[in-house]
Amino acid sequence: MFYDDVESLPRPQLEQLQLARLKDVVARAAASPFYRKAFQQTGVTPDSIRSLEDVRKLPLTTKADLRNHYPYGFLAKPKAEMVRLHASSGTTGSPTAIFYTREDLESWADLCARSFYGVGVRPEDVFQNIAGYGLFTGGLGIHYGAERLGCLTIPAGAGNTARQIKLIRDFQVTAIHIIPSYALYLGAWLVDHGLDPAELPWRIALIGAEPHTEEARQRIQELLQLKAYNSYGLSEMNGPGVAFECAHQCGMHVWEDAYLVEILTPDNHEPAPDGEVGELVLTSFARQGMPLIRYRTRDLTRIIPGDCPCGRTHRRIDRIKGRADDMLIIKGVNIYPMQIEQALLSMPEVAQNYVIELFREGYMDQLRVKVEIKNEFFVEDMRALTALQKRIASRLRDEILITPRVELAQHKSLPQSAGKAERVRDLREKDL
Ligand code: ADP
Ligand code: ZN
Repeated sequence: MFYDDVESLPRPQLEQLQLARLKDVVARAAASPFYRKAFQQTGVTPDSIRSLEDVRKLPLTTKADLRNHYPYGFLAKPKAEMVRLHASSGTTGSPTAIFYTREDLESWADLCARSFYGVGVRPEDVFQNIAGYGLFTGGLGIHYGAERLGCLTIPAGAGNTARQIKLIRDFQVTAIHIIPSYALYLGAWLVDHGLDPAELPWRIALIGAEPHTEEARQRIQELLQLKAYNSYGLSEMNGPGVAFECAHQCGMHVWEDAYLVEILTPDNHEPAPDGEVGELVLTSFARQGMPLIRYRTRDLTRIIPGDCPCGRTHRRIDRIKGRADDMLIIKGVNIYPMQIEQALLSMPEVAQNYVIELFREGYMDQLRVKVEIKNEFFVEDMRALTALQKRIASRLRDEILITPRVELAQHKSLPQSAGKAERVRDLREKDL
């Protein structure tokens, strides 16, 4: 029923396995310059770990640590054993380099294959990877996972929508991997070109690599006429295949045989109670070349309490609320871009694309939301447009408690990328 028996391993055994692996990774990580020093300073050894709670004796690792020990300071094996390099996309600053041994690539492909199998992808499927190849892990990582599962795998890469659709039709593609903002664009593109998505052979989309709301997922499912499943990962933990939804679409199972999950309170890094939102902190058990211990992802989520109807014992995390770095503070109110997306995409007049702009007026920070409107609502009647603008502003106010400026934009007029969307533009420095 499952790709791997470990997916339904009873909790006591799963935790026993985790404890053994935690000790093991502490021993292995000590070979890297960074952890050798960090462990010496804190006096920890593999013997310090007697229970899973003892993970708290280990130091946290941050993105700044990775940058400060760039490029090779985290290698726990000789460089000659590394066979691949990836880099994070640099969404929040300069990129970091991640290295993989042959064994790392094998275990990563297995985790991806397991994830895809869990949402119904089978060896008979034709799988098109609509994500950028190159340093981004969503290219090769997903690719080798689909091949490992046995799918005929098409490395389409991102962009060139007409060619994507041609490939999908010509080769009867049944499963795709795509970044959610590009999936929304693709859906609108089909409408514009008079194509009926129900006539396309696809049935499954894996969507991930950037924050998106349940509203966005629903739209993707409707526009593309398929099922879309949330896929979470980050380069520092291999890439995709860290946590994945199952067919029930009710949270993402973290593969706990490969990763130790902690949710810590953002301010003092104490364990957050189950069900409460905090920062996701991960330890990789399987990675040999560059194991990371208690890596602070900056991603905000919570553990979903209770069991999943699918029978997997690995705990679930909720959809990522955003990155800690994404939080905007406007007029003293904390706002996450995903709250804005949720409000916008719940309105039928709104098309798929939007941009959030921060600017300064006098000494005050202001928020402007530019939002594309569907063609049928983008009418010439000024009064109708003004009314719509007001309705959007008040819907946003209900969600974020301040009233932003709203600018209506014509369909397809805002910048669009096939990679991770840039949802927030900070113009504050420029306005000074
Ligand atoms: P970068 O941090 O530079 O974007 P990565 O390509 O490694 O580099 O991206 C990992 C990050 O992407 C995660 O830490 C998270 O913020 C985001 N991410 C990945 N998958 C998802 C997802 N399914 N939902 C929300 N955010 C995601
Ligand atoms: Zn499940």
